[in-house]
Amino acid sequence: MNEKVRCLIIGSGPAGYTAAIYASRANLSPVLYEGMQPGGQLTTTTEVENFPGYPEGITGPELMEDLKKQATRFGADIRFGMVTAADLSSAPYKITIDGEKVIETQTLIISTGATAKYLGLPDETKYAGSGVSACATCDGFFYRKRKVAVVGGGDTAAEEAAYLANIAEKVYLIVRKDYLRASKIMQERVMGNPKIEILFEHETLGLTGDMVVQGADLIKRRGKPDEEKVHIEIDGFFLAIGHTPNSQIFKPWVETDETGYIKTIPGTPKTNVEGVFAAGDVADPHYKQAITAAGTGCQAAIEAERYLSEKGL
Ligand code: NDP
Repeated sequence: MNEKVRCLIIGSGPAGYTAAIYASRANLSPVLYEGMQPGGQLTTTTEVENFPGYPEGITGPELMEDLKKQATRFGADIRFGMVTAADLSSAPYKITIDGEKVIETQTLIISTGATAKYLGLPDETKYAGSGVSACATCDGFFYRKRKVAVVGGGDTAAEEAAYLANIAEKVYLIVRKDYLRASKIMQERVMGNPKIEILFEHETLGLTGDMVVQGADLIKRRGKPDEEKVHIEIDGFFLAIGHTPNSQIFKPWVETDETGYIKTIPGTPKTNVEGVFAAGDVADPHYKQAITAAGTGCQAAIEAERYLSEKGL
């Protein structure tokens, strides 16, 4: 027999846990599945300095543990497991967990977040775990007094380059354009750091090394008359070129934009499917902050409660 619930939350980042706090306090008896990365992307960060309420900052893992404890305190049923299939053709919606268990839910809150992008070079796979990483805060430790490169020109790349500069001997920041897209303060932080060398208008062709990364082949000003091949010696290669929203499983029913971000009715977490809400990075191509994710998680739980009471469920 399928398990029947009133509110199912998928994902355990700030959006999912906040939805769980609000939904349990509204007596919806929510069940939350944590997914592949319990605690979400913030568990891979060190210091979170911009989450209101923590004047001295807090580490990502601690913040997520606190949110989980808070949700559990109000009775949220938090479980380990992955959604492997979804049928949102009609309510109650059917969600399959780990390929076996099916849950029927009246409301669904999708807060599955986003995943780091790679360049698509065969060498990224070849050297996976041997010098290639998409998370400086997870793997930076291994590059103490070594040379590393970070790819990207946004806030993530700038933040990761600054973080790695505290550990490594030298950090190359490989930027494909002739400017950084990162915010002013982050630009200043990387430009003013003597350990960081910004390689503007450079693209990565491949990685070199015996078993582990020892260098990268780059091309400078590709397609221009002064195009030039450049080789840098590095021990670590970090990707920081953005994220892909984890919406794949829901796409047959829930409308998404061209990148895959779930579309919501502006100002609400409502999707095109009645009773199905999206919160956090999976539906946010713009802000992608822990606090905005938490805010939309709260909205999703409030909307789920209203939907259930309007339907008398
Ligand atoms: P962004 O989309 O902002 O930036 C991605 C960067 O990667 C761009 O510089 C882009 O280049 C580059 N890039 C993309 N694809 C490739 C490729 N194939 N080859 C080379 N370079 C590539 O992503 P971020 O993850 O940096 O940031 C996402 C959002 O999160 C932003 O809104 C950001 O402000 C926010 N953020 C905020 C933080 C904070 O406030 N503390 C920390 C981190 C992120 P190009 O510019 O040429 O397109």
